[in-house]
Amino acid sequence: MIPLEEALETVMNSVFKTGTETIPCLLALDRILAENVSTDIDMPPFNRASVDGFACRKSELDHDLEIIETIPAGKIPEKAIGEDQCSRIMTGAVVPAGADCVVMVEDTEIVPSGRVRFKALYLKENIAFRGEDVKKGAVLLGSGKMIKPQDIAVLASAGKTFVTVSKMPAVAVISTGSELVEPSVFPAGSQVRNINAYQLLAQIERAGAAGKYYGIAKDDEEETLQIVEKAISENDLILITGGVSMGDFDIVPDVLQRAGVRILFTRVAVQPGKPTTFGIHNKTIVFGLPGNPVSTFMMFELLVRPLICGMMESDWQPVVTRLRMNEGYTRKHSDRMALIPVKITGEFDVSPVEIHGSAHITALSDADGIISLPVGMNTIEKGKIVSVRQI
Ligand code: AMP
Ligand code: MG
Repeated sequence: MIPLEEALETVMNSVFKTGTETIPCLLALDRILAENVSTDIDMPPFNRASVDGFACRKSELDHDLEIIETIPAGKIPEKAIGEDQCSRIMTGAVVPAGADCVVMVEDTEIVPSGRVRFKALYLKENIAFRGEDVKKGAVLLGSGKMIKPQDIAVLASAGKTFVTVSKMPAVAVISTGSELVEPSVFPAGSQVRNINAYQLLAQIERAGAAGKYYGIAKDDEEETLQIVEKAISENDLILITGGVSMGDFDIVPDVLQRAGVRILFTRVAVQPGKPTTFGIHNKTIVFGLPGNPVSTFMMFELLVRPLICGMMESDWQPVVTRLRMNEGYTRKHSDRMALIPVKITGEFDVSPVEIHGSAHITALSDADGIISLPVGMNTIEKGKIVSVRQI
């Protein structure tokens, strides 16, 4: 049994990079950026009116001004503002030379002479100046970032129609267990619905990669070996669940060995998640994850997600917030690090969720985060500030 930190180090030492590809920006949502994106223009690209009104001089608002032009968005002004003059201007239009402010139309009136009268003296410039947001050549998005909808907007603003992203690793998901049936089946007698495969496929997607499901392998060495060998030949990463504990039918470690996987660890000192197995076959990385869905979830978050992110050189870090325990927590044994699902119960408070064991998946669904209790510690007192890792 090795500590979680050592397991993570072993996993991260096995990272290989997936390389990059260039794709249309519209397909880039949730992908990992693999270039620094800079802009070819100043933003705004010209001095821009930020309201509908009149472009004029701050020093001349005390008297009526002649209107010399109307400037809609998309038109270059033809006339500079001279003494006693202003131009009618629309939001988003180019502010004409000679003007140093735009007065909102609401703060003006047209007098019978056809001139503009200002109801108040100078209030606000209402001009967004060229380059005040971003200067031409500035790096707007850095390599390693997961692309959000807002980033797609930035790519559009910078004139990018294609973008270079990290290739997604090919990730296989295999469930094992003769008791498993797919979710569409009403489980009879000794049967259990397959939860892990679907949970993992969602977790893989959230990490910015795409999983491929290889189905349920019965607890039969030959059948499992066949599926494992096929998955190894087709993927960068294999996630197998179940069959890694001490039962008579826990055949996954043997199968992996027969498939030529070099096993690097088989037990991690965490609760839940202990029977986590990890190995490498040439360039394919293999995880044997515990059968219980809560354990599988935890080990994905703690070991698999960092690996996938490392393969794509993603800058992802877990979101950790410091919150106050609303209740105490006690456990009997302290030989492993405890991973405790918690719920945010107030603005600054968390409480452990009621969980009956590592098969209790609805308890995990209620949780907002996990806290950990190190080896050798049995209690967390009520009121203590803890680090909550968001899930
Ligand atoms: P195992 O490690 O194969 O002995 O599995 C431990 C427990 O997890 C058993 O109760 C299994 O029925 C359950 N289990 C294994 N795989 C899955 C799965 N894919 N979905 C839901 N439960 C599972
Ligand atoms: Mg099993």
